[in-house]
Amino acid sequence: MKKIMLTGIKPTGNLTLGNYIGVLKHLKDYQDEYESYIFIADLHALTLPIDPKILNQNTRDIVAFYLASGLDFNKSHIFLQSSVSEHAELNSIMINYLYMGELSRMTQFKEKSKNMNYSAIGLGLFAYPVLMASDIILYDADIVPVGEDQRQHVELTRDLVRRFNSRYNTDVLKEPKAIVNKTGKRIMSLSDPLKKMSKSDPKGDIYLKDDEKTIRKKIMSAVTDSDCKIIYDKENKPGISNLLTIYSSLKDISIEEAEKEFENANYGTFKRAVADAVVNELLPFQERYNQIINSNLINEALIKGRDAAKIKANAKLKEIQKVVGLYEIKQ
Ligand code: ATP
Ligand code: MG
Repeated sequence: MKKIMLTGIKPTGNLTLGNYIGVLKHLKDYQDEYESYIFIADLHALTLPIDPKILNQNTRDIVAFYLASGLDFNKSHIFLQSSVSEHAELNSIMINYLYMGELSRMTQFKEKSKNMNYSAIGLGLFAYPVLMASDIILYDADIVPVGEDQRQHVELTRDLVRRFNSRYNTDVLKEPKAIVNKTGKRIMSLSDPLKKMSKSDPKGDIYLKDDEKTIRKKIMSAVTDSDCKIIYDKENKPGISNLLTIYSSLKDISIEEAEKEFENANYGTFKRAVADAVVNELLPFQERYNQIINSNLINEALIKGRDAAKIKANAKLKEIQKVVGLYEIKQ
């Protein structure tokens, strides 16, 4: 039997190079070996205020980007979280097995709520990891490819699985493993390399839809330092380190190889090479996206994905309902 892979992206904004290098680019490599469940986390997108029209557009966009990245919807199940109601149903069970203390310690919660008035923080933002754990548990996922920032939530899911299984003396829930790529696990903002590139907090982001001129301009004006060496040193040279990460992950080489390549280069030459690498990767990708975005492939993929996901999720939900003692009506 194939092992199971699951991953998702929230339709909260325009996808960034961080999303691409962190996860999107790698997903097609799993689809032959793994039974793959790849979804658009639209319920999670509601955890911070978002314009309904934008949410709608972003959702379509992510499906098109998934397909443009080389995912084949006959192999990978691509679906909307909201189209499989079992996610919300399992959430209402699992919300009882994660605790206020641990949820309040999550980095994402702390970061996203830090400028908010405590009394006006939506419950969904706080309980985000519960829904994410439900997403993962429903499919018995073995692996969850994510960027470094989401590792903590997968770890919490593992805690939840152990806690739940031990409380009910069962092995009904499977422990997932986060898969974080060696290079490109956390792409930083180009204008503030101490901050993660994030689609819902645009600052120094490269968007997957940016045109060539914009991409080049953003990379050429990326914040660096004044010492002229191209070496990886996250603490003292966060800007250069970030550009080295981008370059090496797009070229599929190690950081050391990238450092070697630019041993004698100046920042201008280096930045131009990074810009070339990004443009060479994104232009063909955008071409595929443009062919897909207005086609019927989006709906076709979502129907097929929903139907397959629903079968798997419903069977798991039934098992869990039984374990906790929810009464099953005999027909
Ligand atoms: P938001 O600001 O709404 O949280 P985001 O850009 O962080 O948006 P998510 O939908 O939260 O995107 O995450 C989608 C996937 O992209 C996750 O696996 C996440 O770990 C990964 N990811 C997000 N930002 C980066 C980044 N800067 N570098 C590498 N991976 C990233
Ligand atoms: Mg995020």
